[in-house]
Amino acid sequence: MRAAARAEAFFQDIVARNAGEPEFHQAVSCLFESLVLLLERAPHYADAALIQRLCEPERQVIFRVPWQDDLGAIHVNRGFRVQFNSVLGPYKGGLRFHPRVNLGIVKFLGFEQLFKNALTGLPLGGGKGGADFDPKGKSDAEVMRFCQSFMTELYRHIGPDVDVPAGDVGVGVREIGYMFGQHKRLTNSYASGAITGKGLSWGGSRVRKEATGYGLAYFVSEMLDARDLAFDGCKVIVSGAGNVALHTIEKVHQMGGTVIACSDSSGYIVDEQGIDLEALRTLKEARRRSIHEYATLVPSARYRADGSVWDVPCDIALPCATQNELDETAARTLVKNGVRIVAEGANMPTTPEARRYFRSAGIPFAPGKAANAGGVVTSALEMQQNASRDSWSFEDTDERLATLMRNIHERCIGTAEEYGRPGDYVLGANIAAFKKVADAMIALGII
Ligand code: NDP
Repeated sequence: MRAAARAEAFFQDIVARNAGEPEFHQAVSCLFESLVLLLERAPHYADAALIQRLCEPERQVIFRVPWQDDLGAIHVNRGFRVQFNSVLGPYKGGLRFHPRVNLGIVKFLGFEQLFKNALTGLPLGGGKGGADFDPKGKSDAEVMRFCQSFMTELYRHIGPDVDVPAGDVGVGVREIGYMFGQHKRLTNSYASGAITGKGLSWGGSRVRKEATGYGLAYFVSEMLDARDLAFDGCKVIVSGAGNVALHTIEKVHQMGGTVIACSDSSGYIVDEQGIDLEALRTLKEARRRSIHEYATLVPSARYRADGSVWDVPCDIALPCATQNELDETAARTLVKNGVRIVAEGANMPTTPEARRYFRSAGIPFAPGKAANAGGVVTSALEMQQNASRDSWSFEDTDERLATLMRNIHERCIGTAEEYGRPGDYVLGANIAAFKKVADAMIALGII
């Protein structure tokens, strides 16, 4: 059977085995689009049910999370941990607390994480988890009780050499603190390496909080450099206003670009003078308020509740909010308005149609598994510091992050060139990451 037909048969099998999980199908399908080229040259990767094994998580844990609110009412949420693949190292990947979390979303995130981690070149497997819990509008005490209950089940599945969770949407240093505290009580050990994204005074790493956003900016800087361009004078749009978005904005400004628009789940703001990061931080980080208040704090800004942030003309577009936030219509608008580079800070924020449109229009497009790997890279640096009971300076850690992002960029473009598609970051990332995982799986026998 020809490679394309084999890949399609594998894909149909995966859709049938994982019914009702569209995000997972989407992530698998994106990988398979690239694999066709690899299978033409190296058909052995399709033998021994290797691809089917790769697409089946090693373990999936689903559990009840009961907790009590401040008024004494009892609630029940559903917790998840999908341990996708540990062939390269302990499972590693964040926890997401959001009302829309379900098994399919956790599986898509775990699948992406596996290949992202492989692309970093670090000894990490892939996993992801979370709960359909919404921290928004909850008191600190409620969030603490939820996190403690969540960890009361999760702790038996994780550990520094087994599975190392971190943060993601809805899980920041506050939630990590409550979970780490409960893990410490339950295991009677200060297992720093059991979770990353910790606070600095209790085992965290410098730059971890900033890492995904900084890493994205470093990656884009490599993309620009490869085209004899620079951030200087570029207008940039960053969607979202959470951890990834805020630190992307900070680093882009430091590197000479101007972020003129960003968004949250209520709408978007445009500020041609450049987003005032301190005002945005106060609003979103300290006060956890809606972005529309930014326009009342900063007179040069305007707020829009309708339309799309991608309607704003820019040179560089960095989707940093959530999955499938940038569709084909938005892609067409961006290209019409002259966008020159697109790179994903979020996980799978671009729909397949939009991604294909950027490719057909010749726009350099970096997928999240390459461009947003800075978070997991710095989590690995946190694990190294925990294991050696060490603490590195901000500059040292930041320099390592920048180097690792440069290496990922090189891996992507090198592989894309080797497979006859220079500049195709999606193809380069997918093939380089897949080969790393697949070769290790072949070496370790039928597992
Ligand atoms: P946060 O929860 O800190 O922030 C998410 C932001 O996106 C919030 O500002 C939220 O708005 C906004 N948002 C949500 N939905 C929409 C939407 N439809 N349109 C516009 N804005 C929206 O999450 P993170 O910044 O940590 O994560 C963002 C993305 O990056 C996710 O895909 C995550 O998986 C990925 N990622 C995160 C890493 C990390 O280290 N944190 C590492 C690698 C990837 P509101 O404030 O209104 O809720």
